[in-house]
Amino acid sequence: MDFTHVEADLSKTLVTEEELHAKLEELARQIEADYEGKDLLLVGVLRGAVMVMADLSRALRRHIEMDWMAVSSYGSGTVSSGVVRILKDLDSDLTGRNVLIVEDIIDSGLTLSWLRGNLESRGAASVEICTMLRKPDALKVEVDVKYCGFDIPNEFVIGYGLDYAEQYRNLRGIGVLAPHVYE
Ligand code: 5GP
Ligand code: MG
Ligand code: MG
Repeated sequence: MDFTHVEADLSKTLVTEEELHAKLEELARQIEADYEGKDLLLVGVLRGAVMVMADLSRALRRHIEMDWMAVSSYGSGTVSSGVVRILKDLDSDLTGRNVLIVEDIIDSGLTLSWLRGNLESRGAASVEICTMLRKPDALKVEVDVKYCGFDIPNEFVIGYGLDYAEQYRNLRGIGVLAPHVYE
């Protein structure tokens, strides 16, 4: 298969595949140390976090469990409203569990801030957040993120799970979509 036409839709690469994997190894060592002797349930947020979950979970040299949620924010188009609807709930009971939410990106922070509150209210022993990317200039609410891969500029990015109109999730690195794609 020739993917060069897909790569050509990027105006620039922000994070390479190699940088992503090096960062995940670093985060995995911190997580192993922080959760030593404790159970750990990774909660992935569908669909964007699929790649981070696959690579982070395999970088961890310890037992973990995985569960998944799908959420959608009400509101128009690309602007997050902060009102979140659960499309697919967890299968796990969170009582007494140490939960680590695994996310692709924090933009306004509204989704994650809601999600953390929701999971905490189910009786989890702890709820922390691991995100591959964060846009500090777009944050609308303070979100305490324990593990963050990269802070990036306030631009729309794709790849490594992140989509534009459901495409580009399978790119190995993360980049900025070229204007010719959406203009
Ligand atoms: P928040 O509630 O933090 O504003 O929204 C986070 C969600 O918006 C992410 O999980 C992701 O699905 C989507 N999102 C935010 N920024 C971007 C971006 O730059 N690119 C893509 N593809 N999705 C984004
Ligand atoms: Mg996400
Ligand atoms: Mg999306």
